[in-house]
Amino acid sequence: MAVALTLNTPIKYIKGIGESRAAAFQRLGIERVCDLLTFYPSRYEERGRVIPVSSALDGELCSVELTIKECSVPKYIRGNLSVFRCIAEDESSSLELVFFNMPYLAKSLTKGRRYRAYGRMKIGLYGREMTSPKLEPILQGKPLPYYVPVYRIAAPLTQRAIASAVAECLPLCDQIPDIMPQSIKNSFGLLNQSDAVRIMHKPQNAQSLALARKSIAFSELIVFRLALSGMRTHNKKESAIPLTLKNTGIKGFFQNLPFSLTKAQQRAVKEIFADLEQPHPMARLLQGDVGSGKTAVAAAAIYLCVKNGYQACIMAPTEILAAQHKKTMDKFLSPFGIRTELLVSGLPAAEKKRVRAGLEDGSINVAVGTHALITDKTLFNNCALAVVDEQHRFGVKQRAALLEKSRVSQNRAHMLVMSATPIPRSLSLIIFGDLDVSLLDELPPGRQKIQTKIATPLDSEKIYGLIKKEIDQGGRAYIVCPLIEEGEEPSHRRAAESYYNELTSVHLKDIPAGLLHGKMKPAEKAQVMADFAAGVTKVLVSTTVIEVGVDVPEATVMVIENAESFGLSQLHQLRGRVGRGTRPSVCILVNGKNSPDVADRLSIMRDTCDGFKVAEADLQRRGPGDFFGVRQSGEFSFACSAITDVTMLPQTDSIVKAVLNDKDNPEYKPLFIAAEKFLERTGGGLTVN
Ligand code: ADP
Ligand code: MG
Repeated sequence: MAVALTLNTPIKYIKGIGESRAAAFQRLGIERVCDLLTFYPSRYEERGRVIPVSSALDGELCSVELTIKECSVPKYIRGNLSVFRCIAEDESSSLELVFFNMPYLAKSLTKGRRYRAYGRMKIGLYGREMTSPKLEPILQGKPLPYYVPVYRIAAPLTQRAIASAVAECLPLCDQIPDIMPQSIKNSFGLLNQSDAVRIMHKPQNAQSLALARKSIAFSELIVFRLALSGMRTHNKKESAIPLTLKNTGIKGFFQNLPFSLTKAQQRAVKEIFADLEQPHPMARLLQGDVGSGKTAVAAAAIYLCVKNGYQACIMAPTEILAAQHKKTMDKFLSPFGIRTELLVSGLPAAEKKRVRAGLEDGSINVAVGTHALITDKTLFNNCALAVVDEQHRFGVKQRAALLEKSRVSQNRAHMLVMSATPIPRSLSLIIFGDLDVSLLDELPPGRQKIQTKIATPLDSEKIYGLIKKEIDQGGRAYIVCPLIEEGEEPSHRRAAESYYNELTSVHLKDIPAGLLHGKMKPAEKAQVMADFAAGVTKVLVSTTVIEVGVDVPEATVMVIENAESFGLSQLHQLRGRVGRGTRPSVCILVNGKNSPDVADRLSIMRDTCDGFKVAEADLQRRGPGDFFGVRQSGEFSFACSAITDVTMLPQTDSIVKAVLNDKDNPEYKPLFIAAEKFLERTGGGLTVN
């Protein structure tokens, strides 16, 4: 029975979607027609930019217009694996098309007919070839779309399935309510929401697509920021345990530190202490470049909390990092009788049980752990401070879960989140808009600037030479590879395992080395890390598991293989593993890809060590879509991930201010309602609640 669709209709009623397909859609958060319509394409194939076959480069993804000359019959290679080939041509050249497992297509392709083919051009010994291109027949009076949307979906859903479902629903765009007041739309030249949504799925040209994106991004940003401001207000109303400096012997804590705090650290500590003295929960971000000394600041807050009679916890994204924090806390806190324990999933069950018991009965003061902290089994006695390290690795929901755990009866815990990822100011407003910010904009004294060099795979002898020299002088070296083992696809990329084998059997035979990657057992990883930290091994070949937070001051060389396959911010993080001691350090970026674009990108790394500058450059290159995508793994559900233009933020600034200053204006009501819905949907209300 056909149901008349509305925006609220469950998607299983859309033509072509049954129960099972509906379930697949639901896994993407698409329950109703309106969810489908706001599930925007992640990118567009520019199939309308047709080029002559002869001008396509080897490996280029391109669109060509072809006439089919000849088709072979499908051949079954083995089992039901079949292949057929077509000879096709345009005015400039001929081209062979190869199709696997599409025998039905062979039947429908007609000699002499013209098609638009979109695929990757391969230039081989026998000429040009495209494997499994996407074909669209060119028919008179039926122009093909210039842009073809691509949605971020996974099997069993197909692009075709979602495109056809979207096509069914597109007429309903008219029913999408406009939350943006007309006055704002006029002054910023924005489209109606309904038009914008329609264009997102079916853009005619680049201009209207850009405008649609801008319109949607504008309203999302404004709604989001209103939501954040709502959260802040809400936060101020919540109660938390006020902590006091009185009789805590805090002076002793600072005197026990092996260094004196930098000015920036002192400032941050003061800001944090001032927050902790309030009867409302702290929600503060401690942002500072790698090596700026965030851990000591966190330790001061933890000290204060424990000396007030409450527990505290630190959640870190990796077990390596958690173990390192445990060591640091012991060093900083155990002299004062503060008991810290590690809680990570890699511990033996009995050990976990023991730690959990200690947390529940309060005999353990500080828990340092990973996600294990937020599983159901963990209960605190009276945790009043939750610290989240490398916060960008966690989603909003995980932060919220930690806070849920750490309540003292009706009181919410104070929260300190730390991030070494310098987020450009423009974006930090969005990502951390619900938090107060303390900035560590100064590195501890005596740090040497890290010299960054760009090399090619041909320089390996020189690199080994440098590593040997550094180790002779007491240094240690990291070598980071993008893959764990050979055979993981893109084969030109170096794998840690084979690199390690090669290194230890040939190039650096006499130097003890370790191998570290994410597939190893936690205990193995910890051992490898400990050996490297202690100097038992001098070289550590690793994947990016060492990216976050690892601290070995003796390390002075960082070699990053296939540097081209990492984002700039990630490279900066990796580079931050060296330059932590007093000896000068060097970071070598091995560029495995000979393209000017990559060279240009890597040169930014060579030219600056300032994390914020790197982040700005990264943002400009990749666009904020990636920033959100990677960092927040979709939890900040900006439907329009393509907030293409960061310059938009100052503009939304003024709107948000205007709206907040005139809250009762009926024109703004829909915005506030949307903000509330946003919080419900993301659980964002829990971020600091
Ligand atoms: P991050 O901010 O990256 O988490 P860490 O807290 O790991 O940095 O600190 C990096 C290194 O700097 C550690 O070895 C730490 O002991 C040291 N450190 C921190 N603060 C100071 C300081 N004020 N003076 C000297 N060394 C410091
Ligand atoms: Mg750290």
